[in-house]
Amino acid sequence: MAAFFDTPVEFLKGVGPQRSSLLNKELNIFTFGDLIQHFPFRYEDRTKFYSIKELSDDLPFVQVKGILKKKELIGAGFKKRLTVQLTDETGELELVWFQGINWINEKLKVGVQYVVFGKPSRYGSKFNIAHPEIEVLTGKNEQGGFLQPVYPLSEKLRTRHLDSKAIAKLMQELLLQSGDKIRETLPKNLLDSYKLIPKKDALLNIHFPQSIDLLSRSQQRLKFEELFYIQLRLLKMKLVRQDKFKGQVFQDASLLTKFYNEHLPFALTDAQKKVIKEIYGDLKSGKQMNRLLQGDVGSGKTIVGFICTLVIVSSGAQAALMAPTEILAQQHYNGLKRYADKMQLPIALLTGSTKKSARKEIHEALRSGELKILIGTHALLEEEVQFKNLGLAIVDEQHRFGVAQRSKLWQKNVSLYPHVLVMTATPIPRTLAMTLYGDLDVSVIDQLPAGRKPIKTIHRFDAHRLQVNQFLRDQIEAGRQVYMVYPLIEESEKLDLKHLMDGYESVCRAFPDIAVSIVHGRMKPEAKDFEMTRFIKAETKIMVATTVIEVGVDVPNASVMVIENAERFGLSQLHQLRGRVGRGAEQSYCILMTDYKLGADSKTRIETMVKTNNGFEISETDLKLRGPGDIMGTQQSGALDLLIADLAKDGPILQLAREVAIDVLKKDPELEKPENKVIKTQIESIRKTVVNWSRIS
Ligand code: ADP
Ligand code: MG
Repeated sequence: MAAFFDTPVEFLKGVGPQRSSLLNKELNIFTFGDLIQHFPFRYEDRTKFYSIKELSDDLPFVQVKGILKKKELIGAGFKKRLTVQLTDETGELELVWFQGINWINEKLKVGVQYVVFGKPSRYGSKFNIAHPEIEVLTGKNEQGGFLQPVYPLSEKLRTRHLDSKAIAKLMQELLLQSGDKIRETLPKNLLDSYKLIPKKDALLNIHFPQSIDLLSRSQQRLKFEELFYIQLRLLKMKLVRQDKFKGQVFQDASLLTKFYNEHLPFALTDAQKKVIKEIYGDLKSGKQMNRLLQGDVGSGKTIVGFICTLVIVSSGAQAALMAPTEILAQQHYNGLKRYADKMQLPIALLTGSTKKSARKEIHEALRSGELKILIGTHALLEEEVQFKNLGLAIVDEQHRFGVAQRSKLWQKNVSLYPHVLVMTATPIPRTLAMTLYGDLDVSVIDQLPAGRKPIKTIHRFDAHRLQVNQFLRDQIEAGRQVYMVYPLIEESEKLDLKHLMDGYESVCRAFPDIAVSIVHGRMKPEAKDFEMTRFIKAETKIMVATTVIEVGVDVPNASVMVIENAERFGLSQLHQLRGRVGRGAEQSYCILMTDYKLGADSKTRIETMVKTNNGFEISETDLKLRGPGDIMGTQQSGALDLLIADLAKDGPILQLAREVAIDVLKKDPELEKPENKVIKTQIESIRKTVVNWSRIS
């Protein structure tokens, strides 16, 4: 049965070696199974014939039938074209061809009735269709009444005449042959409870819908199935992990209590307390923790990480915190060293620029167990970095790290995996989080520290530069500091760098009496750090920078963020940047500078920023604008190569699929009951094809 769908696509009637190699290369279609899952992305409506009188400019595609009255070859050379008059009882329509003229001219006969299909456009008082599809009217096509599938294609396929119609033809052949070979992949009780149509009907109707209603039910069924199996797999991984991966038990909270009572610099928010409890619960559970900590920028994740570290250290084990950039690691180190010193706990910083001798010392102190807390960058992942007993690995701003890098941290302990806490400020929409991190436990800090005033976000045009500068001057005179961020993307790096330097110069000219810093990715790390440090110490008042300051940098006195060419940034990036201010007690501002001319999407992005400070709301809009593939950090995961479901649109189906999957596993964790046999079989067959992007297989 399965063997049928494993048949190489070459052996389908109408394919053969040449087309098969095209399908392999262009569409990743290798087997019958791949082909049948190559779903149309839209349908052309052939359910209706329009009369010529009914045509209008707004109609995307129309189907018309009529008699060919006249045909004419006009012009010569490049300008040569074929025009045809088609009439019905209501009027006259012109059809035009500029290419393939001779072939079409030969085929068409005056006085014969045709069916044509294409996009009408007005031409004076009449309508014409350029390059329509045209067929002789037959009893069959006269009935109309179908939705024609349109398949994803590549340019190459089109030029080799493997167009949508050709694929539809192959599909017809395949469906004809597969009749009784299509296996039901969901148990009957689920089909019944959720009113899902059988797999076979769904496949037939997704390619050749018999009605709009059946089409939508097929989509529903196939999307549900796809999301259900993803959720099932993720939930299963989680169960397996909870079952198999024992964790060290860390229960001693004495250091935590001491810190809490004697050194905590501020009252924790309720959300922070809640999350610490959740993590502490994991640490003493005896199971290995794998937890994602989501919290908007400025919500105070770092201190939560530190407090959890204290629990580890109380029991004599070690903890590591990995940050994505040198600046960030440095900043974490500076911040946490203050706390660690008060608690008399050894702490060290390890980055690419750590001197060899210092590095050696750190390595030794880690191995002996004397060094308790290590902060650093990717340098932590190197082979020589060996711990005596790593109890907790914290990964900050996770989206900058690949999954593979994270898993290296996991392997730092031989006997038992360390507990893992991944902290991210990239708000991930619920639907995405469910798919990407469905196997992790998730904690959320959904509250900002008390006393923070919401950041005011303002949109200004470049023409308002003078007013904006005056505003900045007032702020600086009141003691504040200012960020000015310029876009820099790889594709236009040279030009962007020039804009940045021009910007820097004009800032220096506009503020001759004020010290200005500049930081960008092309500077040497030492120079960058030097400038950054000057700004942190408030020796400079304005920081001109690229997005290198995007992640995590914390200067509470900086209360104004100016974003130049704001239209060139993505929404989540804008939000991240804005999060650099609003960290102190003062009112903070984010000023989005743009040109007058804005595209529709840019406009939506700017409006969204002005309207809301809520990271989750922003990420939802971002997902809608860009689609899931582009959301930060998800590109490489492979978890998003969905066949039919769309995470931006199918939130409710995903929610349902997850609930059903939880329910199924709760009642039958090993999927041993007879009614779940179908599920088990399907998981086996998916396992063969799915690339495993997670650490746990
Ligand atoms: P993020 O979640 O973006 O990593 P940080 O951990 O950098 O945020 O915290 C932002 C700032 O807020 C830091 O200066 C930190 O010391 C401060 N902070 C954290 N928690 C609180 C709190 N409960 N009350 C007041 N300030 C806090
Ligand atoms: Mg942070």
